Amino acid sequence: KQFDSSLLHDKLKEYFGFSSFKGNQEAVIRNVLEGKDTFVLMPTGGGKSLCYQLPAMLMDGVAIVISPLIALMKNQVDAMRTFSAESGIAHFLNSSLNKTAVAQVRQDVLDGKTKLLYFAPESLTKEDNVAFLRKIKVSFYAIDEAHCISEWGHDFRPEYRRIRPIINEIGSAPLIALTATATPKVQLDIQKNLGMSDASVFKSSFNRPNLYYEIRPKHNVDHDIIRFIKQNEGKSGIIYCLSRKKVEELTELLVANGIRALAYHAGMDASTRAANQDDFLMERVEVIVATIAFGMGIDKPDVRYVIHYDIPKSLEGYYQETGRAGRDGGEGYCLTFYSYKDIQKLEKFMQGKPIAEQEIGKLLLLETVSYAESSMCRRKTLLHYFGEDYTEDNCGNCDNCRNPKPKVDARAALKMALEALRDIGDK
Ligand code: ADP
Ligand code: MG
Repeated sequence: KQFDSSLLHDKLKEYFGFSSFKGNQEAVIRNVLEGKDTFVLMPTGGGKSLCYQLPAMLMDGVAIVISPLIALMKNQVDAMRTFSAESGIAHFLNSSLNKTAVAQVRQDVLDGKTKLLYFAPESLTKEDNVAFLRKIKVSFYAIDEAHCISEWGHDFRPEYRRIRPIINEIGSAPLIALTATATPKVQLDIQKNLGMSDASVFKSSFNRPNLYYEIRPKHNVDHDIIRFIKQNEGKSGIIYCLSRKKVEELTELLVANGIRALAYHAGMDASTRAANQDDFLMERVEVIVATIAFGMGIDKPDVRYVIHYDIPKSLEGYYQETGRAGRDGGEGYCLTFYSYKDIQKLEKFMQGKPIAEQEIGKLLLLETVSYAESSMCRRKTLLHYFGEDYTEDNCGNCDNCRNPKPKVDARAALKMALEALRDIGDK
């Protein structure tokens, strides 16, 4: 089938209500429509879903979409249905459905009503699902959040390793893999594991020019955070802490200082967690203090700052978490508190994990340390980590570019030495 540009735009409008494509979307969609394997590296919020949703609508058969989270799947399916008179156009099959619901989904697929069928990887590998899928025509397979396949990614899920063998059992069709994780190691892992080394690769820039990056020594962290929030009164912010205990302590401290803050971590019961998330999204509170359990799939466009109370375990995590600021293109202040003691704490956490995991963990941590301690442009370092060349000399929007450290400065050297001594003294 041939699709000229105006026809693609018509379909974009008809099925999704958008009048133009964003970034690489059109090129990606053409590649998928041509039946080629496709690999998409695009930051969060770039519009990856559309890259498989639109081709699915236009091609014969059913597109199989593999995605890790039931909540994300449900959002997408609901969104697809709002534009279609046919409620069977998109479905998911996962553990949340009962037998009757599963039978209904299968009937819609067999009746040709369904263009997109979403799976969690653990449901895809179920024998009766495989047997069912062998009977239908698959237009292509989309593997969303494809970094889950890699131990070098920030969210490794072993079930993702079973995707390729299962696809071979069901029957081969073109693949599209999508991720917001762009480190060269992860990219290589994904392509190897999915057997798509010849895929066309579409990589967008990961630069977020509106984000300001600052790393600050962790001396007076509580005081600094309270002051920062008060200076930014009325703006929404996220504060990430490493432990649940710290999340609770800091929330209490902020509340005691007259700040409207709520906590979020995986140890809280589900209803409190959902209520707190809602209060933050609806702006009934300004600040959410959270572990990294908070954020996946949350799309609040006007988060004005992200504070890391503790340094993240990897630059990948740092990029993802800071990336939740300024989604609307407005200012986003990314403030991270750093002390070498926290690195030692993180190293201790890793003990007891499998050796291979420890090795990877240590290397990722090392990259984080060198980022935190560097006097180079933060943006340049971060983008370099994602295999991207940033050629500007001065980004004008990070601590190191705004306040360059003098090349040789005896005073600064002395100050740093004293700080290091104080860190040791603190122990
Ligand atoms: P990603 O998966 O890359 O994080 P999503 O697919 O969730 O991004 O899309 C992010 C947002 O951008 C969504 O709200 C989506 O509706 C919107 N979007 C996607 N494509 C377009 C487009 N061509 N025009 C306008 N908005 C778009
Ligand atoms: Mg997505």
